[in-house]
Amino acid sequence: MNIHNILTAPFIHEMCEATNQLWRYGWAERNGGNISYRIPAEEVRYYLSLDRTFPVSPLSFQISELAGEIFLVSGSGKYFKNVQHNPADCLALIRISAEGDSYELLWGLENGDVPTSELASHLKCHQVRLAQDPQHRVILHTHASAISAMTFVHPLEDRAFTRTLWQMITECLVVFPDGVAVLPWMVAGTNELGDASAAKMRDCRIVVWPHHGIMSAGQSMDDAFGLIETAEKSADIYLKICSTNQPILQKITDAQLWDLAAAFQVAPKAGVLEEEK
Ligand code: 13P
Ligand code: ZN
Repeated sequence: MNIHNILTAPFIHEMCEATNQLWRYGWAERNGGNISYRIPAEEVRYYLSLDRTFPVSPLSFQISELAGEIFLVSGSGKYFKNVQHNPADCLALIRISAEGDSYELLWGLENGDVPTSELASHLKCHQVRLAQDPQHRVILHTHASAISAMTFVHPLEDRAFTRTLWQMITECLVVFPDGVAVLPWMVAGTNELGDASAAKMRDCRIVVWPHHGIMSAGQSMDDAFGLIETAEKSADIYLKICSTNQPILQKITDAQLWDLAAAFQVAPKAGVLEEEK
């Protein structure tokens, strides 16, 4: 088979677009944020011969459920504003070993760097989401400003946080009917943060990391990105309302949210809305 230039691959292009857009939004200061994108081996083979040996590095955890899976991931310490200018330096294509305790570097990180320090969170969340949905592809973490700001003034509790976000924009409930989950503050880049995020991702696709950022899961880059854009817009409206120091005169009621759910045929996460009488 003819091997094509990997820099022309749609998955590289999508990664460059996403990292650049995250930086433009102001959510990816310096090296803030990271992305991982599951790529089927058939797609990779179009750009890269897989019939040879590659450098191997250990993982600090075991994830045998992802054995043989290939991910395009952002490199640790890489500035998102620069990814589009040098994807071969900033990105890595990695393949998880058969035992799930190491990975091969198939392509990228040309200057000898390592994949994102949040690899534990990414891979553990991929594992959980894939078990729920075979179409799952993307885990995206970014330092979304309004969501982070909201975690200083809002209770850090799944139901309360979800209710507030659903109430801020009519279509939030439709975009993320499974709501959002909120972790306690945790040290970045740890296996513990990965375990806690993955546990929350079992039944929702947005996890808030207080005073840090947000992580989402999607079937495509647009899907994962769209979840965060929507939650972030909602958080922004919440903060704007708070900053007016005005009493709330009207809001979307739970009955109205039930009507919305019925009209758009989505099932709101159980226990978040007051039950209909
Ligand atoms: P990396 O540069 O290692 O991906 O870390 C950035 C980050 O946002 C950690 O949470
Ligand atoms: Zn981060």
